[in-house]
Amino acid sequence: MTAAPAMTSCTRPTPSGRVYNFSAGPAGMPEPVLRQLQEDLWDLRGSGIGIMEHSHRGAVYDAINAEAHEWCRKAGRVPADWEVILMPGGATVQQAYLPFNFLPAGRTADYPDTGIWTTKAISEGRKAAAMLGAHIHVAFEGSRLKYTRVPKDGEMSQTPNAAYLHYCSNNTVFGTRYPTTPVTTAPLVCDASSEYFARPVDWDRHVMLYGGGQKNLGPSGISLVLVKKDFLATANPALPTMMSFAAHAAGESRLNTPPTFGVHAMGLMFRWIAAQGGPEALERAAIDKSGLLYDAIDSSNGFYTGLAERWCRSFMNVSFRLPTPELDARFVKEAAAHGMDGLTGHRDAGGIRASIYSAFPREGCVALAQFMRDFAGRNS
Ligand code: PMP
Repeated sequence: MTAAPAMTSCTRPTPSGRVYNFSAGPAGMPEPVLRQLQEDLWDLRGSGIGIMEHSHRGAVYDAINAEAHEWCRKAGRVPADWEVILMPGGATVQQAYLPFNFLPAGRTADYPDTGIWTTKAISEGRKAAAMLGAHIHVAFEGSRLKYTRVPKDGEMSQTPNAAYLHYCSNNTVFGTRYPTTPVTTAPLVCDASSEYFARPVDWDRHVMLYGGGQKNLGPSGISLVLVKKDFLATANPALPTMMSFAAHAAGESRLNTPPTFGVHAMGLMFRWIAAQGGPEALERAAIDKSGLLYDAIDSSNGFYTGLAERWCRSFMNVSFRLPTPELDARFVKEAAAHGMDGLTGHRDAGGIRASIYSAFPREGCVALAQFMRDFAGRNS
């Protein structure tokens, strides 16, 4: 085996001896959830067998699976007429399956482009549409604005009778967010990857939400798909089974061997989210935490420049840049030495990105805001 690269030594600022992890995902998880998972890896609920070793058809896993679905409903306030599906693969897998399920031949789906993940959804959607004899319409071209904002109400060019409109409520890379649910007559499908259960959902206005787990919901390699039952009933019935959301729902999220560890980890995350007070409370906390960083940006006399327009700033991904790329790099390096990791911006956006999902501690935002002020003072 080759030796693992040595970690650079840095301050460990948290009481538990961990660093502040500003990664965009996989991202930090709550300490009680991680501690519980440590135990459950070894011996799940006194069974003498760890969670990764239990049969996915056995009684112990039956309970884990059922509880994960139940706690998902409770934590996210998911209405009874919606299905909860825990599906293998990340959000990009669901993006690929979406048109096959819900875009019939001859119809059009609208996709506003607000950043890298919607651009990918559009290009995958087009491949599917070509096979299906259907169309993808780009309802807003955010690239023209360098993705600094989402569309305003009335700004999208929408197709009459569109099969659905796909949007991304929070754009992880550029740090923008729709402040309110987009206004549309089409059924709304939301990529909620980087805001899942961190904001309340307008259930009456949506038909489906999906997202990977690795930001607000725990582990990677597993997605949460929420879909309204009457919309699911309209899905293409002729799909290969693994591509069919309806089959996954009917199969209780275990059509094949499911990611059992991920399902359990998500189940624990749903309990944690419920204990925090659910999406409303987590949104309030996110406004407060991100506000600490936006204040540091806005009071820096232009040393820091936010990438997003103020009215649509993300509460989850705070992106900004310093006067030069050299200063960006120095900022990241010095922050790392103070126990703040993962601050390099996405390669396509540059600058700095502080991702502060639901489990990210407020103290970490206080520490970063303080560091930002110190750094600006020393380098202005
Ligand atoms: N959509 C959004 C908004 C994302 O942030 C990401 C991942 N960063 C994806 C989709 C892709 O997710 P995955 O890697 O789980 O396929």
